[in-house]
Amino acid sequence: MTARPIRVPMEEPCEVKTQPGPFAEVAVCLPLSRTFTYSLSGPAAIGCRVVVPFRGRDVEGFIVGLRDTAPESFDALPAREVMDHEPLLPADVFALCRWIADYYFAPLGEVLKSALPPGITQKRIERAVARRSEKDPAKARALPPDLGLALTPDQQRALDTIENVPGFGAILLHGVTGSGKTEVYIQATRRALDRGRTSLVLVPEIGLTPQLAERFAIRFPGRTAVLHSGLTSKQRIEEWTRIRRGDAPVVIGTRSAVFAPLENLGLVIVDEEHETSYKQEETPRYHARDTAIVRARNAGAAIVLGSATPSMESFRNGEAGKFTVARLPSRVEQRPLPKVEVVNMREEYVVAGRQVVFSERLLGAIATRLERREQTIVLLNRRGFAAFLLCRKCGFTYDCSACSVSLTYHRSIHKLLCHYCGLAKRPPERCPECASEHIHYVGEGTERLEHDLTELFPAARIARVDRDVMRHPRDFERVLGAFRNGDTDILVGTQMIAKGHDFPNVTLVGVISADASLALPDFRAAERTFQLLTQVAGRSGRGDRPGEVVIQSYHPDHYTFQLAETQRFEDFYQRESRYRRALFYPPFSALAGIVVSDRNAERAAQTSRDVGQFLGGLGEERIRVIGPAPAPLERLKRVHRYQLLIKAATRDALHRALDKLQANLESKKPGSTRVMIDVDPVSLM
Ligand code: ADP
Ligand code: ZN
Ligand code: ZN
Repeated sequence: MTARPIRVPMEEPCEVKTQPGPFAEVAVCLPLSRTFTYSLSGPAAIGCRVVVPFRGRDVEGFIVGLRDTAPESFDALPAREVMDHEPLLPADVFALCRWIADYYFAPLGEVLKSALPPGITQKRIERAVARRSEKDPAKARALPPDLGLALTPDQQRALDTIENVPGFGAILLHGVTGSGKTEVYIQATRRALDRGRTSLVLVPEIGLTPQLAERFAIRFPGRTAVLHSGLTSKQRIEEWTRIRRGDAPVVIGTRSAVFAPLENLGLVIVDEEHETSYKQEETPRYHARDTAIVRARNAGAAIVLGSATPSMESFRNGEAGKFTVARLPSRVEQRPLPKVEVVNMREEYVVAGRQVVFSERLLGAIATRLERREQTIVLLNRRGFAAFLLCRKCGFTYDCSACSVSLTYHRSIHKLLCHYCGLAKRPPERCPECASEHIHYVGEGTERLEHDLTELFPAARIARVDRDVMRHPRDFERVLGAFRNGDTDILVGTQMIAKGHDFPNVTLVGVISADASLALPDFRAAERTFQLLTQVAGRSGRGDRPGEVVIQSYHPDHYTFQLAETQRFEDFYQRESRYRRALFYPPFSALAGIVVSDRNAERAAQTSRDVGQFLGGLGEERIRVIGPAPAPLERLKRVHRYQLLIKAATRDALHRALDKLQANLESKKPGSTRVMIDVDPVSLM
């Protein structure tokens, strides 16, 4: 990922102009890429929020430019109100938002809005400051002497590499699970603080923040702040205010923490950099890892991208010399990596004479763990009880009436649910098509696993982690806490349990239906599967006893499983590279996805053909357009979806084409059809 110049030259970010520039360029917080001019009655600065009349209602917006002269061609409407007497966002965050708007074709007003805590006002900031000084009058305490562990030689080398970055530089920290990456993050943060620089730590999901935040808080008491969407709006404003005032020079948070108002940034850490949750899947569709790289570059800071299974993109950047690679090839204290075994479920079928959920191999391994009072994790990436309902007589399956997917059976509530739109239906007693009573539930989900394991091992203490039972980050922490304390023997869950957690007594991990994620119609399916298997395998054998992993598959010969067995990431990278190169996919091309959607199927199809024709007519040799074709998820919430992909030899070529496409789309009368541009998409559903 490289920088490119800002397309629309604008004034210096946040340059405080308090001259009564009577006219303001306003980026409204709506999905529109252009700005609008309003007249102001008093002084204001770039970056301040305003309320302006827009198409008959009042909307919020940000001042992104000021000028003294009226626009020539029209009368500017007066703004209703200037909300802030000074800009809330620091200049560099404002500049970062402009980069996002430009690079991701995202509406600037919406980007700026997502960079601030929801509901923030000057009043609420003042109240947060007052509460804070009541609670904690002595601020900015000196740090206690460092309690850091004595680093292994590999960790020390990694730390030195980070330390020796002259100004901006990206380091790919490729360390196997349990190799002590977190300790490197902490000591690098310590060094940054010693040099008077602040540090930003990004984690892929809320579930992982408390754990990491605690490890940082012990080492930097009173100096860390946490930012994620699980906080109340009051807590978020409080944390944000502490950061803005320089009271918390270490920030730990999820995706949107990339906008944390830190000054004097010296270090950025992106943990589990390969995780797709760093990409926001709604406007503004930015990738927090890539945005963090740009932020670090602008700040002249080092950025560390840590992972046991780096993304193909980052690994390629390491290979090409754009990133410095630091390796932690072994676990600390010579703990061995777990032994991975792939069980052929086709053979199990032959032996059992029917479809079974658990292989004999896995059941035996679980029984041994229970005897030895060790713990087991069982992963299945599908919640619910059964994948779908099937009529054995006529083949009818119950599909969602709004989306092109089958409904999943949830036993505890006795409902068929759509996992995309939430539609809930009572399961029929007879087939709605042929009235047959032979309707069967096919394919298992986590709820079914928990149910079956309870019957198979009645004495075992079993807990489940998935979105059905985890309504709040607190639930997640409670179940994981119990597991860590040894109050649970078997933990069943979706990918929520695959990452980051450290459970020393887990010596067995079972993966059910490992094929499911491989079958997704997405060029990253193999990469995702390999990452998931490696991550979940990494949960095993983190204590003194060696770990074991049993993967159940119907396609055990697939290279993803073969290489998961040897856990040789480089081999996987080489194998996968061949395929990506041959098909001109990232990291060997720049990619954008375009989704055209409309409730009316014909209109969606027509617009997608128009988009295809427009792109084809550009005469740009360095792009290839694939489609339009119905998106893999052809109907979603009653909306029909068509997809195009643009593969480009260079980012410039890609952005040139998208610039022209966007201009063309905006020159047309707005209708009901939506055309969504997704730069560097991570999911093509
Ligand atoms: P990773 O983030 O790479 O999965 P962690 O940082 O969680 O690994 O480290 C795994 C375990 O090893 C943790 O329990 C941690 O406390 C311990 N550890 C890390 N570095 C060292 C070290 N230098 N000496 C001893 N123990 C260490
Ligand atoms: Zn039927
Ligand atoms: Zn649905």
